[in-house]
Amino acid sequence: MEWVGTAHQNGEMTASTLPLIAIDGPSGVGKSTTARRVAARLGWQYLDTGAMYRAAALAIRRAGITLEDRPALERLLSTLDLAQKDGRMFLAGEDISEAIRSQEVTRQVTPVSADARVREVLVDRQRRIGASGRWVVDGRDIGTVVFTQACCKTFLTASPEARARRRFLELMTMGQSPVFEDVLADLQRRDEADSTRAVAPLRPAKDAVTLDSSDMSLDQVVDGIVARHQAHS
Ligand code: C5P
Repeated sequence: MEWVGTAHQNGEMTASTLPLIAIDGPSGVGKSTTARRVAARLGWQYLDTGAMYRAAALAIRRAGITLEDRPALERLLSTLDLAQKDGRMFLAGEDISEAIRSQEVTRQVTPVSADARVREVLVDRQRRIGASGRWVVDGRDIGTVVFTQACCKTFLTASPEARARRRFLELMTMGQSPVFEDVLADLQRRDEADSTRAVAPLRPAKDAVTLDSSDMSLDQVVDGIVARHQAHS
């Protein structure tokens, strides 16, 4: 499906830019927290596309189907009832925000998000949601595929060790007892899978600014993205 942006540039409607901030990057880099904070600063809305892939993985698991069962997958995708509201993810009206963060879903989302048909359906929905602009959208392919016309693209990165350290502390504060080496290995597994898949692999868009946040605070990252957006508008 062809998507056409509706941003204004020099007073004219144009398909070349959209007032939309795309934040892509690897797992555990802090995209969601950053994107939520940037959206709050600008008074824009925030779309978490990773949560949509996680919700699809959960729905597929609950339905007891496999990706190989194409007719059942098609049926499920055509009736998939997803919504995001106030930072929560809903599947057919049920709040699944916690369920989609389980280790099981985190494992299952990798093959689900590599499936071309799943991506086609979810990308179409993401484009419809963000088409009017004033959204901050985070994911892996937002600047390269979903919203190539986004006015401001950031590729947020950090060393695997810095990301694993953050994720490790996050799991500790959630009352879990993570093993650092396991957290690091899981991040590296997901990096590898996301970067080498055939459809929409993780990579910076040509016009994205890469921000290495290994030694930056959250405030510094948010300030950097907001300042870049303001320089554009
Ligand atoms: O961002 P988060 O880790 O919640 O995303 C879950 C998974 O969904 C990622 O591991 C990635 O494989 C996939 N994903 C994707 N494209 C996006 C967002 C997420 O393939 N735009």
